Amino acid sequence: MTNVLLNPGPANTTLNVKLAQVVEDICPREREFGVTMEEVSNGLVEFVQGGVNKKAVLFGGSGTLAVESALSSIVGANDKLAIITNGAYGKRMEEIAKAHSLNFVVFQSSFLEPLDFDDVADFLQKEQPNFIAIIHSETTSGLLNDLHTLSKIAKNIDAKIIADCMSSYACYPLNLDEVDFIIASSNKNIQAIAGVSFVIANEDNILKASHSKSLYLNLKAQYEYFKAHFQMRFTPPVQTIYALKTAIDELRAEGLNMRFERYKANNTLLREGLKSLGFEIFPKRSFGVIITAITLPNNMSFESLHTHCKNHGYTIYPGKIDGLNMFRIANIGAITQNEIRGFLEVLRNFEK
Ligand SMILES: *Cc1c(COP(=O)(O)O)cnc(C)c1O
Repeated sequence: MTNVLLNPGPANTTLNVKLAQVVEDICPREREFGVTMEEVSNGLVEFVQGGVNKKAVLFGGSGTLAVESALSSIVGANDKLAIITNGAYGKRMEEIAKAHSLNFVVFQSSFLEPLDFDDVADFLQKEQPNFIAIIHSETTSGLLNDLHTLSKIAKNIDAKIIADCMSSYACYPLNLDEVDFIIASSNKNIQAIAGVSFVIANEDNILKASHSKSLYLNLKAQYEYFKAHFQMRFTPPVQTIYALKTAIDELRAEGLNMRFERYKANNTLLREGLKSLGFEIFPKRSFGVIITAITLPNNMSFESLHTHCKNHGYTIYPGKIDGLNMFRIANIGAITQNEIRGFLEVLRNFEK
C-alpha cells in the first residue's frame, strides 16, 4: 500500500523522482556533476519571476539551514532586522537571529488571523529596519502572508525583504522585484527528496551577504566557490541532486500555474470535505492552498486518529500552536483528488 503523506513535507514524490537517485557512483567534484548542479540551480531560478541576474545558491541540509545561512549572512553588525512573526517558523527566525546576535525587532501577530498591514506599516515606519524577514506561507496554520502588500511598505522605507518561501515556492509565483531573497528546500512543493535547501536572489544581493560568523553558512562564500570551482564547498547530497533535477523537469512539464491549480483543487476539496464532516478548520481568512489546521473535537485523540489514518495509508500531522488542540493536513506533493477523497472517507469512518 502506498503511503499518502499529508504532512507538510517531505511530500510524496513520483516514481521517476525516486528512481532518479539510482545512478552510477560519482565524485561530486567531477566537472560533469558541476554541470548537473548548475542545471539544477538554473532550473530552480526559472520558477521565480522578476529580478536581474538572479541565482540560486544551494546547500546540503534541510530548509532551516538555508534560513540560517540567509539571516546570518545578510544582516551585518550595522544593520537592523525586523522579523514579522505569526507562527512557529517566524519564531524559528527569531531563534536564529538570537543565536547569531543579530540586531532585531519583532512584529508579533496572531497565529490564526491575517496580518494587519496598517499595523505592520506603522511598526516598520517607527523601527526603520533595513531588512524585513517574513514567512510567506506559515506552515504552522496555513496563513498566507501577502508579500505584494509588504513589498510596497518595504520600498517606502528602503528595506529589503528576506522571505521564507519554504511552503509556497514551486506552487505560488514569486517575484524578485517584490522580495529580495527567496528561501526554499527540495522536499516540499518542488516534490523532490529531502536534503537540499537554497536561497534565490539577484547576484548583487548575494555578493553582499558575507556577514555570517559561521564558516559553513556563509552565503556569499558558498556562491563564489561554486562559481569559481563548479563544485559545492562541502560534500553535496549527490543522489538528492539527481532527484531534484528530475523534479524540476516534472514541474516544467506540469507548469507552475497548473501545479497551483492542482493544489488549490485538492485544498478546496479537503476544506469542503472536512467542513461537511463537522470539523472546524483554520485559518478562516487569508489561507493559502497548502495547509489546513483542524480543531480536534473534544473526545478525539490525535494519537488514535493518526494510527487509524496511518493504518489506511494516510499520514496526518500534529498541530503546532501552543494551547490549541489541532491537527494539520498538507495537500502538497504528487497526490490527486482521488487521494483526498480517499482520506476524507477514512476520516469519516474513524470511530472515536
Ligand atoms: C518546512 C519549513 C521550513 C524548514 O524546515 P526543515 O525541517 O528545516 O526543512 C522552514 N520554514 C517553513 C515555513 C517551512 O514550512
